[in-house]
Amino acid sequence: MADYIRIRDLEVYANHGVFEEENRLGQKFLFSFELEVDMKRAGITDDLSDSVHYGEICRKVYDFTRAHTYHLLEKLAESVSRMLLMEFPEIRSLKTEIKKPWAPVGLPLNTVSVEITRNRHLVYLSIGSNIGDKRAYLDQAVTELDEHPMIFVKKVSDYFVTKPYGGVEQDDFLNGCVELETVLEPEELLHALHEIEGHAGRTREIHWGPRTLDLDILFYDDRIMDTENLTIPHKEIPLRDFVLTPLAEIAPDFVHPVLKKTIIQLRDKCRRKSEVW
Ligand code: ATP
Ligand code: CA
Ligand code: CA
Repeated sequence: MADYIRIRDLEVYANHGVFEEENRLGQKFLFSFELEVDMKRAGITDDLSDSVHYGEICRKVYDFTRAHTYHLLEKLAESVSRMLLMEFPEIRSLKTEIKKPWAPVGLPLNTVSVEITRNRHLVYLSIGSNIGDKRAYLDQAVTELDEHPMIFVKKVSDYFVTKPYGGVEQDDFLNGCVELETVLEPEELLHALHEIEGHAGRTREIHWGPRTLDLDILFYDDRIMDTENLTIPHKEIPLRDFVLTPLAEIAPDFVHPVLKKTIIQLRDKCRRKSEVW
């Protein structure tokens, strides 16, 4: 069962379109939204601070739509949806429809529209450092993640000192895990992580070698993917106590979508193995 707030045909005059005249003269856009929000509390307290303020939503959409100029309705719909999901954490998921009744088609039609449904994604990261002021590198990474306009940091584990892995002679690691919510797609998130690693002066020389900062995506919802740049869930999770121990602090019951085991179960299994080794 879900609760919805609906906004129908909010009218904004703006300049989106592929044609130069559309950008110059502007035209009418009609926005409709279906916001999934939990209304139980507001239904009991009768207090606006327990709900989402739809007047504020309309105002934000209006201002955003007037402040940007995009070619495509698709881009406008995606950008407005992301903005709302980041500005209003109470929105769990969001259906956005944009109509363009004056679309320059040269034939009679009622309206052209796009409709998309979006939500924030739940992501777990592993963060590690083994050069210099390791704690400062990890703290800085968490700060930069949280300052990113498309990322909310929700939880940060303790940091654990761990022995290096992979047979390269190097200093001990400091490792932790972070829970975040984001509207970024996996590839976009990876790009953001690489940028943050870059700010920490990360260079890529030896695989599994020393590094100021390493940010890996462990899980992205329950998504399973394997491309040239990105394997999700991260392949080494079940083998790494230094990932599973901090992760068990912030996500003990999260279920690995491939192995179908909780983080606690994976951690206990991994520990038993390392004793045998
Ligand atoms: P490991 O992935 O075993 O922890 P590493 O973190 O030392 O090794 P890097 O040199 O940091 O490896 O990354 C190499 C490449 O791995 C990245 O450029 C990225 O494209 C790819 N990669 C694949 N899956 C992931 C993932 N889940 N998170 C981060 N990077 C990934
Ligand atoms: Ca890594
Ligand atoms: Ca990495």
